[in-house]
Amino acid sequence: MHNDMELGAFWGGVREIVRKMIGDDDTYSRWIQPIVPVSLKKNALLLGVADEFCAEWVKSNFQDMILSALLQAYGEKFKISYEIGHLIEAPQRAHPEHVRHSRSDVQSQRRSSDKCNPAYTFSNFVVGPENRIAYAAAMGMVDVRSSALAANPLFIYASPGLGKTHLIQALANKIREMPSQFKVEYLACEDLMNQYVDCIANKNHHVFRNRFRKVNYLLIDDIHFLSKTTNLQEEFFNTFNTLYNEGNKIILTSDKRPSEIHGLENRLISRFSSGLTVEIESFGEETKLAILKKKQLSHQIKFRDDVLHFVARNLCSDVRVLEGALFRLVAVASVENCEMSIEMAKRILGDYLEQQALKRINIESIQKAVAEFYDLRISDITGTNRSSNIAVPRMLAMYLSRTKTEKSLPEIGQAFYKNHATVLHAFRKIERERKKNETIDRALSQIERKLQSV
Ligand code: ADP
Ligand code: MG
Repeated sequence: MHNDMELGAFWGGVREIVRKMIGDDDTYSRWIQPIVPVSLKKNALLLGVADEFCAEWVKSNFQDMILSALLQAYGEKFKISYEIGHLIEAPQRAHPEHVRHSRSDVQSQRRSSDKCNPAYTFSNFVVGPENRIAYAAAMGMVDVRSSALAANPLFIYASPGLGKTHLIQALANKIREMPSQFKVEYLACEDLMNQYVDCIANKNHHVFRNRFRKVNYLLIDDIHFLSKTTNLQEEFFNTFNTLYNEGNKIILTSDKRPSEIHGLENRLISRFSSGLTVEIESFGEETKLAILKKKQLSHQIKFRDDVLHFVARNLCSDVRVLEGALFRLVAVASVENCEMSIEMAKRILGDYLEQQALKRINIESIQKAVAEFYDLRISDITGTNRSSNIAVPRMLAMYLSRTKTEKSLPEIGQAFYKNHATVLHAFRKIERERKKNETIDRALSQIERKLQSV
């Protein structure tokens, strides 16, 4: 591209898709709206942001969304880089709902950051074996009948797109509806950080304290971002203790379990782990199908079961991806005005399926992931060194190859230059070990999640 106008229009379309994906005006106007498209050469998009911090933040929080919006809009893969120094313009008065908050405007942020998406409810959250415990535990926070599950704190973790935000906002919405008038604060961790920075800048630390230490329920989404700030960690530690000691409830979500959050202080790790820690696991085909059927209800067009099965079988668990795929099928079906078949779906979802095939777990990707996890070389994993710091990772890789791929024992053996009996021995040993050895179980879960989220 192209001239400025074309580039503006191009970015405008993408931005709109991202806005819908985010679904929260406040977050959108704070982070996405100020981005300036600088250039687009081939498929390399250069985006202008204010400073290093913004670049880092957009990259780690919104880049995946922007890439998938680009894919959705143009059916192609793009590369994104950032240029700093694009200072933010004055607030746009024409769109009051998108007005950026000035630092001192704590009051208005307070109202807006309270907001939860009313569409996120328990009743439209599809429950399957992978998220059943998280769902029950969240419900347990408000339902005295299931108080056995009302642990404090409740810590829910999962890979992106598995419903953490939906679930925690459903809980916040539910508490607000209750007649008992509990005081509740729900915030995304980035908003908590903004609030903290605002209060410090305005020298009214007590406002922050009064607000968060005097609630019955404190719900923070994406708490892993806390690791970026030492001062807020200190403050949050004290907030946590005050709430906890007074029997108030704390509910947190994260993309990792507490002990895996890099840079999180040990005392917070131990507080966060002291209640109930639950994972939402990647969805199997059944749950994906149930989600597609539920999402389909909001569209005019309905697809045959075999088409939905095909989508569920071939796409990943990230519900954003499933929704995007469904959306695209609906869009095409409404234009072409004919019944969707698997063949058509295959053609329409070509790039999604391609991405999926690339992600598919195979022995090589397992060997690589295990080697990276233990800081070894792949040749160590496939070699013969028997010292335990190498032999155990090797057995884990064999175990994962057996559980995560369709390969036979001899085929796995070949990939490790061993015979099938060695693979079987490793598999059985790790299967036993995993049940009683927490370190091994944790390592495996972490590697499995990494493999699924590549
Ligand atoms: P996360 O916070 O884990 O990245 P979100 O909660 O933002 O994921 O979920 C992404 C999208 O998928 C949202 O539109 C949400 O409503 C939907 N979603 C996720 N899990 C479920 C579920 N179990 N049932 C229905 N919709 C879901
Ligand atoms: Mg989320």
